[in-house]
Amino acid sequence: MLRKIEEIKNECQARLSQVSTMEELNEFRIKTLGRKGEVTLLLRGLKDLSGEEKAKAGRVANELKQNLEQMLREKIEAFKRDELEQRLLQEKIDVTLPGLPRQRGRQHPLTQITREIQGIFIGMGFTVAEGPEIELDYYNFEALNVPRDHPARDMQDSFYISEELLLRTHTSPVQVRTMEQMAPQIPIKIIVPGKVYRKDDDATHSPMFHQVEGLVIGQRITFAHLKGTLVRFAHQVFGEDVTVRYRPSFFPFTEPSAEMDISCVMCQGEGCRVCSHTGWLEILGAGMVNPRVLQYGGYDPEEVTGFAFGMGIERIAMLKYGINDLRLFFENDKRFLAQF
Ligand SMILES: [Zn+2]
Repeated sequence: MLRKIEEIKNECQARLSQVSTMEELNEFRIKTLGRKGEVTLLLRGLKDLSGEEKAKAGRVANELKQNLEQMLREKIEAFKRDELEQRLLQEKIDVTLPGLPRQRGRQHPLTQITREIQGIFIGMGFTVAEGPEIELDYYNFEALNVPRDHPARDMQDSFYISEELLLRTHTSPVQVRTMEQMAPQIPIKIIVPGKVYRKDDDATHSPMFHQVEGLVIGQRITFAHLKGTLVRFAHQVFGEDVTVRYRPSFFPFTEPSAEMDISCVMCQGEGCRVCSHTGWLEILGAGMVNPRVLQYGGYDPEEVTGFAFGMGIERIAMLKYGINDLRLFFENDKRFLAQF
């Protein structure tokens, strides 16, 4: 047995010295150390031997296996070195060739539209406010006149972290946070862009999306101010020729409340699939700040009034750019992102 191992060893060494390409080397490896290779079979055959012989032969055969593996590794290294040397010899570097163009990034379409919306409101004298994304139940619901047993709390299907903490479902909590800081000073004129979270996931809903909230508090602020501000906004984003309409609606934190529609930007109001053949597109919710919310914020509803509005940034971007699937914004496909 030992002689046989010795023979195989000598034969392998002889054959290995003949090997001159990577393919041949691979073939050699399969023939010796592969699943049905000579050395593999040899090692497997050892189990039929008896005690002492088995131990001795086993040691020698294992040595052979390790030797072969070592030699194979060295051979591969040598091939790689040769290849690199060859390449370096052949390669001529032309320093006059133009360099590789650097790929330039750009702002994500949602960042672009957020900045555009911010710019419009800043132009009307608003400032930008921010608030935490992990919010107290108190600010997200209670101080916005949404009591514990209010059906809106189920409807919103929120991500609760504990009984008192959740991922905010809208940017509206920043209304009360700002009022608390400012009261009793007037005016307040803020917009609040930011991420919000709800348990929705389909072509027009994402569990994380963006809103812009607006709040104005002052003396004798009326619904006319609300309309004037939002019509101006709609014209700047979608063009001067869109028309606007208001429909009565309900939000616990505004009274009265309204939804604002614009004439469909796809069909100019004639009716198409995007507007469900109504000619109108809903773009935001708004209303006069509910007196109870003013009180929660530390203001006297007999002294001041205000209006608030909120819109989904993805929705505005989808309508402005004609995008039909909201998920495209978050898939990070450069072919999509490079179009904006
Ligand atoms: Zn339409």
